[in-house]
Amino acid sequence: MRLARGCWDGGSRFLRGNSPYHRPMASVDRTVGCLFCGNRQGRFESEEHVIPLALGNAVASGLVEDEFVIPPGEICDKCNRRRLSLRDKALAEWPPISVFRSLGQVANRRGQLVDAVAGTRWDIALNPKDPRRFVLFALANTGPRSNRDDVARALCKIALETRWLDYPLDARSARWNPIASAAIGGPLPASLLMGLTHPDAPENVNLAPESRVFVDDDFAALRIFGLTFVTGLQLSLLINSHAPLVPRTAWWSADSATGVLTGPDSFWGRFEGAAARATRTTAASSMSSAKNRSALPTEPGAQLYLHRSSES
Ligand SMILES: [Zn+2]
Repeated sequence: MRLARGCWDGGSRFLRGNSPYHRPMASVDRTVGCLFCGNRQGRFESEEHVIPLALGNAVASGLVEDEFVIPPGEICDKCNRRRLSLRDKALAEWPPISVFRSLGQVANRRGQLVDAVAGTRWDIALNPKDPRRFVLFALANTGPRSNRDDVARALCKIALETRWLDYPLDARSARWNPIASAAIGGPLPASLLMGLTHPDAPENVNLAPESRVFVDDDFAALRIFGLTFVTGLQLSLLINSHAPLVPRTAWWSADSATGVLTGPDSFWGRFEGAAARATRTTAASSMSSAKNRSALPTEPGAQLYLHRSSES
């Protein structure tokens, strides 16, 4: 769909400040139009995944029976396919999430495993008595170049969609406007806090994707605590609230002057696990199909491949 000249495009307004379409029109209204940009024109045909397909919100991953979605008609295709998909990608490829996605062997929408992205480092200690058992220390880049601001936008997207599923009238109310615009590329709300918590013990790892949002209705403006669970990690989104004391958690806050996140530039995770079979190999040796394994880079020139249980 191509917007007619003169139509206001809520997303482009933020993505490209000098857009010729930056002209508010009466037809832009989040109470009735697109849940994010408020536009009432264009196509509304696509289904939107609240948590990205790539992070296990796909039947093919084996982690959900039903995909957690917003039905067609609520979000315009332009937001869904372009602006929100950029946030989904930022979230799925954020190094800490990518590490755990690879380690947890979370399959993508086609049921395939995906290697970790750049910006991650591993140190794996294998149990000499049982080579399938390992203790892994993962270091992931969470600096400004890790796209962490877009990860916070992804959490805004998930929080708004989760609220829509619980209480559509409130999700479409004006107090959510800053969250809606952040999700499609606008500035981060000044009061935003983002937290990342890694699991305390292997038995407590739950790879199933889940999202919850708690809203303080005694507060006239928006005060929320959003929780997103993906790849065994817990991500928190707080608006107009203080960071709670949560163990094993790193926090980033939006700088009110610059509108970008400040906080730790790296994240450590420790993880114990067992693969159905582990193969230590060198990069030079050829491995067969990548379908049923995750490659975990270890020391230079060697990789540990974790095979899916179904292959054992
Ligand atoms: Zn839209």
